[in-house]
Amino acid sequence: MKTFHLVSDCIAWRKNIVNTVGFVPTMGALHAGHVSLIKSSKKNCNKTLVSIYINPSQFSQEEDLGSYPKTIKEDLKILKGLNVDAVFLPSDNEIYPEDKPDNFTYENSLFKKLEGKSRPHFFYGVTKVVSRLFNIVSPTHTFFGEKDAQQSRIINQMIKDLNYNIRFISCPTVRSENGLALSSRNNYLSHSEQKQASVVYRGLKLVEENIKKGNVNVNQLKKVFTSMINKNQNIQIDYISIACNETLEELTIWSKNSLISVAIFYKNVRLIDNIVV
Ligand code: AMP
Repeated sequence: MKTFHLVSDCIAWRKNIVNTVGFVPTMGALHAGHVSLIKSSKKNCNKTLVSIYINPSQFSQEEDLGSYPKTIKEDLKILKGLNVDAVFLPSDNEIYPEDKPDNFTYENSLFKKLEGKSRPHFFYGVTKVVSRLFNIVSPTHTFFGEKDAQQSRIINQMIKDLNYNIRFISCPTVRSENGLALSSRNNYLSHSEQKQASVVYRGLKLVEENIKKGNVNVNQLKKVFTSMINKNQNIQIDYISIACNETLEELTIWSKNSLISVAIFYKNVRLIDNIVV
């Protein structure tokens, strides 16, 4: 497995590949969710490159940039075990060189919805780093997780808007046995806290059950979720949304293939999850 720290080395590696290159951007602390994306890339592409970079521009000052889990030794072991071709581990200065202009501006109609309401800076930072990584890696395919559904929609749209010649592949959410969506931020929680936090998925499934029984009133469906979650003192709901899966417009009446997405705080750890019903 090639390991690159420099943009120039990554570009040089890419230049010699004529076949397909799958790219999986991550922030590390790898888990089975990341592994599923990498396996999909290995299946679909001749070469696979994974990046591990904790991108400062997507964190606000109040967020957990400083404490974000770092498990680089274990990550590299996982990547080697998966026979990944190359890993890119850039420093901040490689991605955001001080002597180069930082003038990337991109926005689409999905930025200010859902996560964007709670984290207004977030998608500006995500699109900035993903665009830079796309420019460096020049992948033919890229793999993102449905766990971050809005991020997936936004990157897919950015690929179209900025004419990147990259095939976007969305991969299903991987969950632990109790249903909790795997996330690097789960590392902040003990095993028993993770078990408690899994009520979020049960809440989403209860909403789905209600829809299947014919309840299509979005306010009532949201109440079903909140009353289940509010039984847990440690959990606070940031938002629950039932929206069009493409435009992310909020609905008042459920319609087929809606995105039901939530963000919660378990104590001070922010977790997100979603299902499509
Ligand atoms: P992150 O390292 O959290 O920035 O995530 C890197 C990629 O892995 C993103 O495309 C995420 O959507 C994806 N991902 C994270 N958690 C999961 C999961 N539980 N299942 C599937 N994909 C995931």
